[in-house]
Amino acid sequence: MSKSLIECHNVSMMYQNGLAVDDVSFTINQGDFLVIAGENGSGKTTLMKGILGLKSLYSGQIKYPGVTPNKIGYLPQVIEIQKDFPASVFEVVMSGFVNQLNNRFFYPKDFKNKAIKNMKLLEIEHLSNTSFKDLSGGQRQRVLLARALCATETILFLDEPVASLDVNITKSLFELLGELNRHHGITIVMITHDVSDIIKQSTKVLRMNTQIDFYGSSEDYRSQFGGLD
Ligand code: ADP
Repeated sequence: MSKSLIECHNVSMMYQNGLAVDDVSFTINQGDFLVIAGENGSGKTTLMKGILGLKSLYSGQIKYPGVTPNKIGYLPQVIEIQKDFPASVFEVVMSGFVNQLNNRFFYPKDFKNKAIKNMKLLEIEHLSNTSFKDLSGGQRQRVLLARALCATETILFLDEPVASLDVNITKSLFELLGELNRHHGITIVMITHDVSDIIKQSTKVLRMNTQIDFYGSSEDYRSQFGGLD
């Protein structure tokens, strides 16, 4: 059986207006490509923030038996302000190491080598000196993905990574994520409101509706809800 990386036990999370996540239990195993699906407002982002330690739980527990919480790679939704970020592609990718710097002022050489390796993997090495703000939407996502890969060799979290990308760029990003999962051993947890395209790459689906609406394999999801092709 594969190793469990993260376990959510009866997790509930609140805002002033009530529960956003209600009694959610599931496990993320090494090698999973888990899609967190559900309508807008169903609690997907709140749950992810709970797992990432960005928002506290109301009740329940999250355990990290197979991963150090600061070794989780995170690709947040691209917000407007990031688009004007005044830095080169290389600097943005290198900023993925910030949690591992401890008290050092300089990035050690192996960090730089790893950043270059990740840029090659995502085919953005030639953009190294380009300013982040001059990139297309698809290129920006690849840069942010390379940055997230610098933070982890184990698990990546992505929040609606294709919200503003066109169909072809979305497709190639999904294929890339599938490849990272299958050939580079990266566990992936991705939020989307539309599972139809990503389900070809994913292994499991968790559908939220404040509570868990469905949790199981992508195959079971397909046979239960069908019509996704
Ligand atoms: P999703 O990611 O599925 O769209 P969210 O987790 O963002 O859902 O939101 C779940 C619920 O929590 C929604 O009812 C939303 O209005 C509420 N919510 C989300 N963020 C906040 C916030 N910062 N303050 C108050 N309520 C919030």
